[in-house]
Amino acid sequence: AHLDRISAVDGAVHAFLHVEGERAIETAAEIDRRRAAGDVLGPLAGVPIAIKDVLVTKGMPSTSGSRILEGWIPPYDATPVTKVREAGMIPLGKTNMDEFAMGSSTEHSAYGPTHNPWDLDRIPGGSGGGSAASVAAFEAPLALGSDTGGSIRQPAHVTGTVGVKPTYGAVSRYGSIALASSLDQIGPVTRTVLDAALLHDVIAGHDPLDSTSIPEAWPSMAEAVRRADVSGLRIGVIKELDGEGFQAGVRQRFHESLELLEQQGAEIVEVSAPHFEYAIAAYYLILPAEASSNLAKFDSVRFGLRVTPSGGGTVEQVMSATREAGFGPEVKRRIILGTYALSAGYYDAYYGSAQKVRTLVQRDFDAAFAGVDVLASPTAPTTAFKFGEKLADPVSMYLNDIATIPANLAGVPGISVPAGLAPEDGLPVGIQFLAPAREDARLYNVGAALE
Ligand code: GLN
Repeated sequence: AHLDRISAVDGAVHAFLHVEGERAIETAAEIDRRRAAGDVLGPLAGVPIAIKDVLVTKGMPSTSGSRILEGWIPPYDATPVTKVREAGMIPLGKTNMDEFAMGSSTEHSAYGPTHNPWDLDRIPGGSGGGSAASVAAFEAPLALGSDTGGSIRQPAHVTGTVGVKPTYGAVSRYGSIALASSLDQIGPVTRTVLDAALLHDVIAGHDPLDSTSIPEAWPSMAEAVRRADVSGLRIGVIKELDGEGFQAGVRQRFHESLELLEQQGAEIVEVSAPHFEYAIAAYYLILPAEASSNLAKFDSVRFGLRVTPSGGGTVEQVMSATREAGFGPEVKRRIILGTYALSAGYYDAYYGSAQKVRTLVQRDFDAAFAGVDVLASPTAPTTAFKFGEKLADPVSMYLNDIATIPANLAGVPGISVPAGLAPEDGLPVGIQFLAPAREDARLYNVGAALE
């Protein structure tokens, strides 16, 4: 049924870069055989899943939205992919994304944008617009995404879906094509909070192949949903993310959601996070610095594309021609920013200062969580914008992630849950909740109370 749905709508939505087709049918038959043979399978066995193209998949193309990886078929699976396969889930294919997960609209994909199923002239968010659109368009019931500065939560906000960025280190990054290793986290994209919790339970857990993976076991997120109870829960509204720059209808739905929680016994208080206003600036030094280092491996020798200048060339000339042809403009912009920020003489002024700001953002979270159980804000400032609206102005594109980036800088978990449609344009709005590191279950508790 999902493959039929993909054939029917993906020509217009373009959520997928690769569809598994027959192989998905064979995997489904294999699950049936395992079940018949008495294998005890988990709750998501037999459920299809779409996988963001940032995750490497054995035998399936994995491009991270870039021409430089066109045609590359990885010889291994990323750990989250191994885990969904072991749980008996059926990979449907790979979803579209901004190139190397840099963007908030999928307009930076080398393979053309994904369209928002709510309005095909609008962006589905980014970088994981393909995963969110596939779920919103009922092409897939569940999807995997990656969130470095909001790429799971912001697409969820603009497509009316649920998106979760787990605590840093909760889900293995092994086999996730790295954007910024200290910020990247893999997580669920779904239509309900319970679905997200079930998928979270499948993918979380220690992985010796990821040195930043948390060794302790996790409580069940699905249990947190089933037992959802917000009475006495203290919810802090982040004052800096509830005013200027936020669309009226986004704020209206945000406050209505808070009222619903208040009616269920939650206590709403205002909190301040004075350093959040510097988070984007710090992020756009730390991210390009790490990205410029991570992308150095795309050198025309190890993976994918190789462009040889006519008449041949030295290794350096081949590398340069390949990177010129294989990387898009946003990727080049960030490599240049990153190498500059890391260069001798500037390192302390830029990268060093950004790391200090990162610590101040972490302290804002610590201070806020001393008084509240979870924090809340709108997930993003506006509903889905039209294609091209922000493409010529990178800074306006970067500002989309003003509410989501602080969580990545601090490593804390976040969820975006649908909060209704903005009255002025009829487009989806998301409410974001943030919890202290390792307290992901609190997000499912509060998220479930809104369903
Ligand atoms: N939009 C942000 C960026 O461009 C977030 C990306 C992400 O989370 N992968 O960096």
